[in-house]
Amino acid sequence: MKNIIKWLERQRIRYTLRHHAIPWQPWSDLMHSASVFEGLSAVDKAHLRELTTLFLHRKTLSGVKGLNVSTEMAVAIAAQACLLILKLGLDYYDGWLEIVIYPGAFRPTRDTTDSAGIVSHQEQTFSGESWSRGPVILSWDDIATELASNHPGHNVVVHEFAHKLDMLNGSANGMPPLHPDMVREKWTKSFSQAFDHLQEQLAHHHRPAINAYGATAPAEFFAVVSEYFFTDPQTLAHLSPSVYKQLVLFYRQDPVSRQASIP
Ligand SMILES: [Zn+2]
Repeated sequence: MKNIIKWLERQRIRYTLRHHAIPWQPWSDLMHSASVFEGLSAVDKAHLRELTTLFLHRKTLSGVKGLNVSTEMAVAIAAQACLLILKLGLDYYDGWLEIVIYPGAFRPTRDTTDSAGIVSHQEQTFSGESWSRGPVILSWDDIATELASNHPGHNVVVHEFAHKLDMLNGSANGMPPLHPDMVREKWTKSFSQAFDHLQEQLAHHHRPAINAYGATAPAEFFAVVSEYFFTDPQTLAHLSPSVYKQLVLFYRQDPVSRQASIP
């Protein structure tokens, strides 16, 4: 029975990839224009396109406040979300369905506390938000700004989907489910040292080496260093080689070496 279900699932995936593949033009335009995808091999890009296709087929992307989500917008959001799970698989985004997109920064209509399983980004207006087993909420303005020019260390899609991965094993606490070949103590030591260091820099009014927002909570720290990992990996690897190494092990990607391959 299990084998039949697996076989049916494989057939369904093949059907989706064949009949609902992302149109080539918006895909190709995105791959050439967005720096976050720079250095990916042709094989990785082909795999990313498949993941993005399946992601768009499984998730609902809804615009609110009059926002009409075009194919280009949907592909840009989905492809960035799938970059995080390129070597992990789409199962890492199981358990929720919806992505809500506001035209610009939005204000939450409720209390936001970590204990409620909600992680919020920014204090007054939000550029993104992730709910445990619920939707991801994004501001298109912020995504478009980051796509239009290079903002090292900043990527709201990476940030919010990193929270999603963090929430796979309970509430967001800065530690996603580690792989069997990873050592929990090494992760904890690397992350807490770097987190403490960032908090110290801020306490002494030193200019922080990475986005100060990461100092607000361990969950935010994981989301912020994930932003650096994908958009400015050299800075993160230089600043905290041990955190970078743990992220290489978790995401099973090495953006420093792939960026070094860019001619
Ligand atoms: Zn956040």
